[in-house]
Amino acid sequence: MPRGKRDGILIAGGGTAGCLAALAMARLRPDVPILIVEERDTFGGSRERLLFDVELATDEAELVAPLAARRWPGFYVAFPGFSRKLKGDLMAFGAAALHRAMIETLQPDQYRLGTKVVAVREDALVLDGGETIKAEGAIDARGAANLSMLELLYETRLERDCRMAAPHKVDRPVLVDATGEPVDGLGFTQCIPLAPDRLTVGDVVVAEHSQPDAQAEGRLERYLSKRGWAGAEVEAERMVARPLPYGGDFAAFWRIGGARVAKAGLRGGFLHPVTGRTVADAARTALLLTRQRDFAGPALHDLFEAQARTLWKKREALRGLNGAIASAPVGARGALLARLYALDPGLLARLQADALGLLDRRRVQQALAGR
Ligand SMILES: Cc1cc2nc3c(=O)[nH]c(=O)nc-3n(C[C@H](O)[C@H](O)[C@H](O)COP(=O)(O)OP(=O)(O)OC[C@H]3O[C@@H](n4cnc5c(N)ncnc54)[C@H](O)[C@@H]3O)c2cc1C
Repeated sequence: MPRGKRDGILIAGGGTAGCLAALAMARLRPDVPILIVEERDTFGGSRERLLFDVELATDEAELVAPLAARRWPGFYVAFPGFSRKLKGDLMAFGAAALHRAMIETLQPDQYRLGTKVVAVREDALVLDGGETIKAEGAIDARGAANLSMLELLYETRLERDCRMAAPHKVDRPVLVDATGEPVDGLGFTQCIPLAPDRLTVGDVVVAEHSQPDAQAEGRLERYLSKRGWAGAEVEAERMVARPLPYGGDFAAFWRIGGARVAKAGLRGGFLHPVTGRTVADAARTALLLTRQRDFAGPALHDLFEAQARTLWKKREALRGLNGAIASAPVGARGALLARLYALDPGLLARLQADALGLLDRRRVQQALAGR
C-alpha cells in the first residue's frame, strides 16, 4: 500500500453504507481511486437487511437488487383481532452477498480488511498502529456512534437463526406477530424465512432503552414452543438495537465526531425514522457521491451534510409518528402500531418508501388518534 498522499477518497467502515459507496464508485467512477478500510475480516456487517422495492429509485435498485439473496411478494402482520397478508415486493440480503460483491468488484489495492481505523479526518484515516493514509477526502461510515444529541426510541431485539427439523412453512416474512403474550409496551415477534428449514425469529420491543428486557429470552422460547419449533437448532443468537429518532438537535449530532468530516450511513443519521432501515439512504448517498466532481474532504462533508439535513427536515412527519409512540402511555403503544397496520395498503407502502403525501400524513395522524 503506497504511503503519503493519494488521489481520490478513503472510506472508513465496510458495512452497508461504506460498501454501497465503494461499489457505486468502482462501477460508475472507475477514474477515482478509492480505499475502503474495514476492521473485520469480511465486509457487510453481521445480519440480514430487508428492503421493499418501493424504497428504491431505478438507479438505486440497479445498485442494490443484484445483492438480493431472497425475494417475496409481500408479508404478514398479525394483531389481536386481525391479521393481514399485505402485498409489496421485498428482498433480503446479508453480509455474504455484500462481501462477495466487494471482492468481485474491487481491486485488492482498493480495500483493506482486518484493519481498525482509530480516527477519521477530513482527508485522512489514522489506523490502529499509527499509520496515517491521506487522500483528497475521507468518509466516515463506521456505523452508529454518539447519538446523545438525538431523542430516540430503540427497536431492541433478541433474535435467533433457527434450523428446524422439518420445513417451517413460513412462505414470506411475518414482520409483526403481536398475537403472542402481551408485552408491557410495544412488542411483537418477527419471523424472516432464510430457507425452507431455516428461520430468523426475533422478539422485538420498541422502547426508550437499547437493551432487550429481562423477559425477552423467555418470551422467545415460549413463542418457539407455541409454533412447534422448540427443538430447533440455534445457529446464531444476537441482541441488537436500532435507533428510531423522534427529535433532537440534528446539526449538533452531525458535528460530533469530527466537525468537518463527511459521514455516511447511520453515522450520518441516514435512516428511515419509523422502520430504522438504512439501505435505501445508503444507496442514494452512494449514487450522490458518484455524481460529485470535487472529492476534497470539505466538499464531501458539505455534500453529505446537506443531504442528511434535507432528509431530516423532510422526515419530520415520520419522526412525529415515533413521537406519538414515545409520548403515549407504555400500555397504549401496541394499539398504535395495530392502528397503523390497519391502514390502506397503498398508504403503508408510501410510509415504507418515505413518500407520504399531505393527505397520507393527516390519515396517519387520525389513525394514531383512533379516528
Ligand atoms: C437489528 C437490526 C435490524 C436491521 N434491519 C434492517 C433492515 O432490515 N433493513 C435496513 O435497511 N436496515 C436495517 N437495519 C439498519 C441498518 O441497515 C444497519 O444498522 C446498517 O448496517 C447500518 O449501516 P452502516 O453502514 O451505517 O453501519 P454498519 O453496517 O454497522 O457498518 C459499519 C461498519 O464499520 C465497521 N467499523 C466499525 N468501526 C470500525 C473501525 N474503527 N475501523 C474500521 N471499521 C470499523 C464495522 O465493522 C462495520 O462493518 C437494521 C439494524 C439493526 C440493528
